[in-house]
Amino acid sequence: MFDQNKARLKPLLDKLGREGIGHWIAGRRVESASGATFETRSPVDGSHIADVARGGAADIAAAAAAARAAFPAWRDMRVEKRQNLLHKVADRIEAHADRIATLECWDTGQAWRFMSKAAVRAADNFRFFADRCLHARDGRNMPSADHWNVSTRTPIGPVGVITPWNTPFMLSTWKIAPALAAGCTVVHKPAEWSPVTADLLPRILQEAGVPDGVLNTVHGFGEDAGRALTEHEAIKAIGFVGETSTGSAIMAQGAATLKRVHFELGGKNPVIVFDDADLDRALDAVVFMIYSLNGERCTSSSRLLIQKSIADDFIGKLAARVKKLKVGHPLDPATEIGPLIHERHLSKVCSYFEIAKQEGADILVGGARHESDGGHYVQPTLVRAKPDSRLAQEEIFGPFLTALTFETEAEAVALANNVRYGLAGYVWSRDIGRSLRVADALEAGMVWVNSENVRHLPTPFGGIKASGIGRDGGDYSFDFYMETKMVSLASGAHSIQKLGT
Ligand code: NAD
Repeated sequence: MFDQNKARLKPLLDKLGREGIGHWIAGRRVESASGATFETRSPVDGSHIADVARGGAADIAAAAAAARAAFPAWRDMRVEKRQNLLHKVADRIEAHADRIATLECWDTGQAWRFMSKAAVRAADNFRFFADRCLHARDGRNMPSADHWNVSTRTPIGPVGVITPWNTPFMLSTWKIAPALAAGCTVVHKPAEWSPVTADLLPRILQEAGVPDGVLNTVHGFGEDAGRALTEHEAIKAIGFVGETSTGSAIMAQGAATLKRVHFELGGKNPVIVFDDADLDRALDAVVFMIYSLNGERCTSSSRLLIQKSIADDFIGKLAARVKKLKVGHPLDPATEIGPLIHERHLSKVCSYFEIAKQEGADILVGGARHESDGGHYVQPTLVRAKPDSRLAQEEIFGPFLTALTFETEAEAVALANNVRYGLAGYVWSRDIGRSLRVADALEAGMVWVNSENVRHLPTPFGGIKASGIGRDGGDYSFDFYMETKMVSLASGAHSIQKLGT
């Protein structure tokens, strides 16, 4: 399989190197108005992948104009036709799944074992929202004595979607599929560190027969293309996934044009393990939820809260597992941890090794770069630290787990909530009453009990505190991408005040 993956990569890279990556506006590849480009390089060995068009305000204006022009026809298309087209997109993603996964591994450093599934999950996102199309306009009937009051929903208009570099293809479909299903047209600004698979999505939509201008992609940096998108008056809402500080900036940038915003931001998620839990399953989940996807995952359980009575034994077993994690080439199916996305991110993660020493934390496993020929590899790391230390408070976004101990349920909850973030929480206990109490008390948008993060698309996904505003998934996505309108019909009999008689 490793050889097969490498063989698949070669011609794809030859083509990218030759042709580069342009914007995709109104169904055509275009270069930047300024002619500017930037390079994307592989985290595996630093090699050049492609020159990418570097968008600015002029390119965003062209993309927004295309999205605005395509909007009326897309909004008014019969829903069965839109449903059919979005299913065809899912079919095409499945047909290209190996190509998408191969390029994603090379461009982002994520391991094949996860990326091969992520491409399939992207198709699932389109299928799920294709079928939801039929119900997007649904409202409620709230009759009163003299009126029949009904609500209905209409798509908000052209929207902007700004995405990060972690599992970028799957994650972008999570925002773009519901927007399209709602009847919105989209301008997508993918992350500058992962442009390669973002270029495939509008091409796949075109192959599937989605009209030109319904999805437009503008590459470039946050401070120019991203900023221009958030400030454009034709763009009615911004679906954003990324860092908390960027969310704040986008809120300020969008204020003048009254942008509706939906933010999925950072996390420092706790996994709480009580002494009565199924400890074998808890151990599997703890390892999976921080060391899969290179730990570059918003819902990763980056803080282990372990009950003191079992702490030494559990952490001992955990350390043994972490030492055995396979760090390697992302296209090798045996690899569990690939190189980190970018040298700047590698430096950020590695800076926490120094912080660990300064804070007097116990580095139980890892704590250094992983030796390799030039890739951004890092050793999976496990530390024991103090609750108020930076290791226990800040989002590191790498394969780095910080363990803390607690004695009582109340202490576990207080520790879990003692961070600025509130995205996800994980609770392991056989005591149902306690699990429910803790789930209720956790300041988090999502809690999994006796489970790792298993996504079910109808459920609300999102965070509280510094982790986000709004929810994705099922009907929650439509609430964001649509306006709710109330229509009230008088039954004819109520009295109307007579003024001026
Ligand atoms: P980032 O905030 O640096 O960048 C995300 C996107 O925003 C990029 O496309 C970037 O170009 C753009 N951007 C940057 N500045 C901008 C500005 N001023 N105006 C408009 N756009 C701008 O985030 P990142 O480093 O790419 O991604 C990692 C972060 O994303 C982590 O904090 C992670 O927790 C978070 N994340 C959250 C979720 C979630 O569901 N809560 C999911 C995935 C990732």
